[in-house]
Amino acid sequence: MNKIIDGKMISSQLRNELKTKVTTLLKKPHLVVIQIGNNEASQVYIKAKCKACDEVGIEFTHLKFPEEINQEEVIKAINKLNNDSSVSSILVQLPLPKHLHERSILETINPLKDVDGLTSANLGKILINEDGIISCTPYGIMKLLEYSNISLEGQHVVIVGRSNLVGKPLISLCLNKNATVTVCHSKTNDLSFYTKQADILIVAVGIKHLITSEMIKDNAVIIDVGINRENGKLYGDVDFEHVKEKVRLITPVPGGVGPMTVTMLLYNVMINYEKTNN
Ligand code: NDP
Repeated sequence: MNKIIDGKMISSQLRNELKTKVTTLLKKPHLVVIQIGNNEASQVYIKAKCKACDEVGIEFTHLKFPEEINQEEVIKAINKLNNDSSVSSILVQLPLPKHLHERSILETINPLKDVDGLTSANLGKILINEDGIISCTPYGIMKLLEYSNISLEGQHVVIVGRSNLVGKPLISLCLNKNATVTVCHSKTNDLSFYTKQADILIVAVGIKHLITSEMIKDNAVIIDVGINRENGKLYGDVDFEHVKEKVRLITPVPGGVGPMTVTMLLYNVMINYEKTNN
């Protein structure tokens, strides 16, 4: 039996659907990505976003500012885009240089143009189970579960990691699907006590092979969000080779959650576009 949740395949299916939809539009959705400084990883991620937009026909603008730009100038640039009706979505590529205040910058984005779901307005909407923009990685994880026919109702979901980007939105998303949710983090005592109870285990930490086969129960569903680079190779937070024998389903790294993140970005651009063009 195939135990692999194929993020690449699901992602390509969703992108094809989006491409068909975009083809029918007279005016194209438009995503603007703001980059500040020269972070190497950001460069790679932005390139991937640009390529994905091209693939489905979404207009893409990359606005690059020097490392030394001050807070007021960034806020001014975002406000300009907020007021530009040709722009449907704005993304500020993280991390920002240390001298900039990330929260104030993110809060400047009009929530209707927020494509990463990181404004408090959109994060709050998930909390009260209302329609808003869901940040791309958690949204991608929910889609992977949906496309794999995994119902969350009554299941014990254990989330390892509580970042604003991944872990925290997942708490509400899983609760909204009637799961029983446990959240673990760096201060959790006896992590395996909790992971062993998981029907569905979602790991978003950033430590290679933190989760070993002794830490999971038989037939669990495992979603591995972690991306750890070692000697040019990518590894997840889960010891895939040993764990896969025990599980019902598992996402590989690479090829699991990763491809879905960019796809859900495209999805969110489309949602924002439809809100302002209907
Ligand atoms: P953060 O560093 O923001 O958060 C990591 C979380 O892991 C924190 O909540 C931290 O706890 C927790 N943690 C750290 N050490 C342990 C430990 N020993 N046991 C249990 N919990 C621990 O990372 P992100 O959420 O942004 O990303 C997590 C991973 O997912 C990274 O590898 C990142 O590269 C990857 N990622 C992948 C994406 C994809 O598209 N596939 C997208 C986004 C991220 P505490 O809060 O106490 O510090």
